[in-house]
This record gives sequence, C-alpha cells and structure tokens, in this order.
Amino acid sequence: MMAALFAAQSGAQVTLLEKNEKLGKKVYITGKGRCNVTNACEDMQDFLREVPRNPRFLFSALRQFSPQDMLDLLRALGCETKVERGRRAYPVSDHASDVTKALEKGLRQAGAAIRLHAEVSGILQKNGRAAGVQLQNGEALAASAVIVCTGGLSYPSTGSTGDGLRWAQETGHQVTPPRPSLVGLRTKETWPMELQGLTLKNVCLTGSSYGKIIYSEQGEMLFTHFGVSGPLVIELSCHLPEDGQAELTLNLKPGLTREQLDQRLMRELSAGKKQLSTVLQSLLPLRFSALFPQLCGVDGKTPCSQVTGKMRAAIADKLQALPLTVVGTRPIAEAIVTRGGVAVKELSPNTMESKRLPGLYFAGEAIDVDAHTGGYNLHIAWATGALAGKSAAKALQGEA
Ligand SMILES: Cc1cc2nc3c(=O)[nH]c(=O)nc-3n(C[C@H](O)[C@H](O)[C@H](O)COP(=O)(O)OP(=O)(O)OC[C@H]3O[C@@H](n4cnc5c(N)ncnc54)[C@H](O)[C@@H]3O)c2cc1C
Repeated sequence: MMAALFAAQSGAQVTLLEKNEKLGKKVYITGKGRCNVTNACEDMQDFLREVPRNPRFLFSALRQFSPQDMLDLLRALGCETKVERGRRAYPVSDHASDVTKALEKGLRQAGAAIRLHAEVSGILQKNGRAAGVQLQNGEALAASAVIVCTGGLSYPSTGSTGDGLRWAQETGHQVTPPRPSLVGLRTKETWPMELQGLTLKNVCLTGSSYGKIIYSEQGEMLFTHFGVSGPLVIELSCHLPEDGQAELTLNLKPGLTREQLDQRLMRELSAGKKQLSTVLQSLLPLRFSALFPQLCGVDGKTPCSQVTGKMRAAIADKLQALPLTVVGTRPIAEAIVTRGGVAVKELSPNTMESKRLPGLYFAGEAIDVDAHTGGYNLHIAWATGALAGKSAAKALQGEA
C-alpha cells in the first residue's frame, strides 16, 4: 500500500495487486486489532537499536520516512493517532482498520489502481530487467518496474505465504532462510503446561545461550500449553541463536534482595501448622503456589514448622532463579514476524532496487530485517515501501 501510494504520488501509473479480498489483512490484526502503527521515537539511533539484524540497511529509508512522517501522513488522510507507553503510536479510534482506510483513501486520491483477488505467480523479465508479473489466472501484466511487498511467512492466513521469497530465489537473489521471531517458546520442562493460562507480572526473565546472556528484562510473561509466551518471552525470542537453544532463568521476586527474601520467607514460615504451599500463596499466584514446592524438591504439604533451613534455601533459590530450558520456538506461522528474507546485500539501501535485476524492488518484511515489538516492524514496512515506490517512479521518469 505504501509503495503504491508513493509511486503514484510521484507520478507513476500504478497497479496494486493483492491476492486477498481486501487490502492490509495483516494490518487488521496488528496490535491486537488496535495497530501499533509506528514508534514515535525522534532519534533514528533509538529506532535502529530496536532492529537486531541489518539495522544499517534501513538508514536511508528511515531518514526519508520517519515515524513522524507516518503520523503526519495518517493525519493528512483523516486518521488521527495517539502515542502511548513506550512511544507506541495507535489510531485514536483504537481501530486498525482506520489505518488501512486512510491508506486506501490516499491510494484513491493518488490515482493508483487496486486489483483485489489478483494473485501474482511470478516475475516477468525482459532484456535483463523486470518487465512485469505473471498472475495466477494466466494473465501477464507488463510493467516497467515491479515492487514486491509480499511480507514474510507469519500468519499465512493473512496472505503472507512467502511468495516473494520464492520469486527472489527464482530470479537469482540470495535469501536468508526464514525463521520465526517474536514468537512463543517451547520448553523441555512440562510443568509450565500445568500452569497454562497463568500470567506472571513484574518478573525478571533472563535468557542465555552458549554461556552468553542474550536478554534480561522485567515485565510480564505467560505459561502456555507448549511452554512460555507473553511480552517478555516474545521479545526474548528475537535474540535466540539460529538453533533456537537457550536457558531461561526466571526471577519471581526481582524486587527483593536475597537477604530480604530470606527474611520474608522466615516470617511467612513462622505460621506453625500451616502447610508450605498455603504459605507460598502470599508470594505466588494460587496455582503456582501449589506446584512450586515440587519444583524445589520439597513436599508442599510439609507443615511450616518442619521446613528446614535447607528447604527454605532451596525455595529462595528457585524463587529468584527458576530454570527453564528452551528447546525451540512455535512454528513460523504463529510468529509475529519472520526473521530472514531477501539478503540486504542484494538490494540498494538507497532505493530498495535489486542489484541483480534492475526494475525489481523489494520492501517490508520480505527483506532480511526485523525488529522488536513497539511499532518498529510496521514502520520498516512503511519506510521501505515509501522509498521503493518513490525510487521506482523516479527511475521511470529518468528513462522517459
Ligand atoms: C498478530 C500480529 C500482530 C502484529 N502487530 C504489530 C504491531 O502492532 N506493530 C508492528 O509494527 N508490527 C506488527 N506486526 C508485524 C507487521 O504486521 C508486519 O511486519 C507487517 O505487516 C509487514 O508488512 P508487509 O507489507 O511487508 O507484509 P504483509 O503485511 O504481510 O503484507 C503482504 C501482502 O502481500 C499480499 N500477497 C502475498 N503474496 C501475494 C501474491 N502472490 N500475490 C498478491 N498478493 C500477495 C498478502 O496478501 C498481503 O496483503 C504484527 C504481526 C502479527 C502477525
């Protein structure tokens, strides 16, 4: 949408081909239906710090289309925005559909043709240039430039089925193997499954891999039928090494020093006849307090008066360093973004044009860049789309 808008605004004759029955199907589900449309950070370095892979490739795109530019564009197209915690920007209406509506309005105003139910099956080439696209229905559409914005492989029901990555490979481009990022993690331990649906707030999650700390933050996480998920886990997932192996350490009481925790435990355990698991209810959510003693190798039915110093130390240890072993991620179809894609060295960062096939451009999640949560991934799509659209139109004007 953004590439088509900018190409049309720059004077090109544009046709946007979308295989779905409507535009921006994925946008509808972003930000839990509210669309965290960008991150209103003012400093580009702040933005780039949130991009773990190939941030430098985005320099030119972001310089030419900043988060503020996106907010201004939406406002000009009738979609007011608001900025929330962590500089996350949303439409004032809290409706993701308003973002798509605004862009559709812009496309109409700029005179871009929109064809829905138009599935592209491949890129046409002529004289060493991109020359159009082949549609699934057999139609061949000639064009002087083609911009591929087909996304990654996440949430394929929204239309992102990795077609553009296939075309990139077919036309000789190196593609970094797609993998899930911003995704739930499977654990070796099965006890998280017994707690599925339970959210933990204000915990500290530390991830390490091959002896190196890859992530450590405080916040919220969730136990699920496969292991762990929720904001902290999702963020941690984009720091995983290629094989997806990591050890997690969960600090359930990050606000207390070890000494404070020992004192608190001693105080709670002075409750005589009460069972250990009952006393733990003051430190942990109910369901967790029932299971927790077992994780410490202690019987939860033990009366407090019989809890030994060794048992208390084991409980304190696990309250502040509960280990979990990551054995992999959930599948890419369930990931918020796809890591990998068209290798950045194949594209010019100043135009998004392929270095291998002139006239072919890529933008958005199809490229091997991905970011943390917070509006960064959508902004990467907006900014690279805008740059590709503008550049393709300019190149054609140069030829005319
Ligand atoms: C659940 C969820 C929530 C998210 N929330 C946020 C958020 O709040 N903020 C944020 O910044 N990011 C969020 N993201 C990530 C963000 O949505 C994506 O990074 C972004 O949409 C990528 O944009 P894109 O245009 O590159 O690809 P997509 O949005 O995937 O769009 C690709 C389009 O190409 C079409 N297409 C594909 N193949 C063909 C073909 N062969 N022919 C014709 N059309 C084709 C598809 O139908 C689709 O409409 C979220 C992702 C998910 C899954």
